[in-house]
Amino acid sequence: MKILNSILKIKLHWQILIAFILAILFGIFLREHVIYVSWMGDIFLRLLRMIVIPLILSSIISGMVNIGGVSNLGRLGLKTFGYYLTTSTFAIIIGLLLVNLIRPGVGMDITSVSIDESISIERPSISEVFIDIVPENIFHALANNDFLSVIFFAILAGIFINKMDKKNNLFISDFFNAIFELFMKITMFVIKLAPFGIFGLIVEVVAEQEDFGNMVSGLGMFMLTVILGILIHSLITLPLITRFIGKAKPFWHLSNVRTTLVTAFSTASSAAALPLNLKETHENSGVSNKITNFTIPIGTTINMDGTAIYISAVVMFIAQAQGAVMGIQEQVLILITALLSSIGTAGVPMASLVIITIILEVLGLPLELMALILPVDRILDMFRTTTNVWGDSCCAVVIGKSEGEELNV
Ligand code: ASP
Repeated sequence: MKILNSILKIKLHWQILIAFILAILFGIFLREHVIYVSWMGDIFLRLLRMIVIPLILSSIISGMVNIGGVSNLGRLGLKTFGYYLTTSTFAIIIGLLLVNLIRPGVGMDITSVSIDESISIERPSISEVFIDIVPENIFHALANNDFLSVIFFAILAGIFINKMDKKNNLFISDFFNAIFELFMKITMFVIKLAPFGIFGLIVEVVAEQEDFGNMVSGLGMFMLTVILGILIHSLITLPLITRFIGKAKPFWHLSNVRTTLVTAFSTASSAAALPLNLKETHENSGVSNKITNFTIPIGTTINMDGTAIYISAVVMFIAQAQGAVMGIQEQVLILITALLSSIGTAGVPMASLVIITIILEVLGLPLELMALILPVDRILDMFRTTTNVWGDSCCAVVIGKSEGEELNV
C-alpha cells in the first residue's frame, strides 16, 4: 500500500514510464498471468472510446462557433486541409523512397502464403468511401462510430449555427460549449488512469509476441523500412515544418504531448488518443481551444502520416515479393489512391488493412499476399498511430501560430 501511495505521488509521465517498463517485464516473465491485469487496458480503452464521439461532435461545433464567421472558417479550413495534404504527401513519398532503396520484399518467400479466405476485409471502392461520408441518419452515424460522417455533420452544423439569429445561436453555442467542457472534465479523470491502462495494454501486446525472434528474422527488413520512415517523418519532417512554417519549438511541443503519444502507442488508435491530444495541445502547448477543436478531431480521421508511410511500404513490399515491376506511373497511382482512401479511414487499430486492400485492388496485386505482413501489423500499428497523432498535434501548433496566437512552444 505504501509503495502504491508513493507511486501515485510521482508525476504522471514517470508513472507511465514505470508502468511501461513493468508491463514489458510482466509480459515476458509472467505471460500466463496476463488475464489478471489485461482488464485494466480494456477498461481504459473503453473509457476513451466512450468519450470520443460526443467529444468529436461537441469539439468541432464549439470550435467552429468560436472561430465565427464564414470567412474565418474558410481560411482555417484551407490551411488545415493544405497542411494535412502536404504532410501526408511527404509521408507517402518517404515510404516509397525507402522501400525503393531498401527493397525489403525482394527475394521474400511467398510460397507459404496460401490463397485462403483469411483476408475477409470489406473492400469499399474509393467512390463508396466518399459517398459514405454523408450520413443517411445522423443518429445512426453517432451510434456506429462513423467518424467521418460525424465530422461532416459537425462541420455543417458549425457553419449553419453561425448563420442563425442571435438568440438561438447563443443557446446552441452555449449548449455545445458546455458538452465539450463536460467531456474534457471526464478526459482529465481518464488521464489519471493512464498508467494502469497503458500497463494492461502493453502487457497484452508483449505477451502475444511469442514468436518475436522468428518474426524479426523474416520481416525484419520490412519492419526496419517502416520504422525508419516513421522516425524520419516524426523527428525530421514534422519538426522542420513546425519550426520553419509554425515558428515554434517542435521538441518542446513533443515533450508537452508525451502522455498523448504514449496513449496512441499503447492503444494503436488515434481516436482513443484524441481526448488527450485536445487537452495537452491546449493546456501544455497553449494552442487555443477554437483551433485545437477544429484541427485535431478532423486530423484524427483524415490525417494519418504514419499510416500513409505504412501503406505505401506494404503495397511496394508485396509488389516486390511478387516480382511485379512498379514504375513511376504505378507509384504515382499508389500515392493518389493512398491519399484519397486514407481520408475515409477511422483512427482505430488495423484500419490500414482496409486501405491496403483498396490499393492492391487498384493495382491488380493479389490480396492474399497481405497475409505476409499480418504478424507484424499490430506492432507497426503502435508506431504509425503515434506518428498520426503527432502530426495532428503539430498541425494545431502550426495553424495556431499562423493565426497569431502566443503559444508556450
Ligand atoms: N491504427 C491507426 C490509427 O488509429 C490506423 C491504422 O493505420 O491502422 O491511427
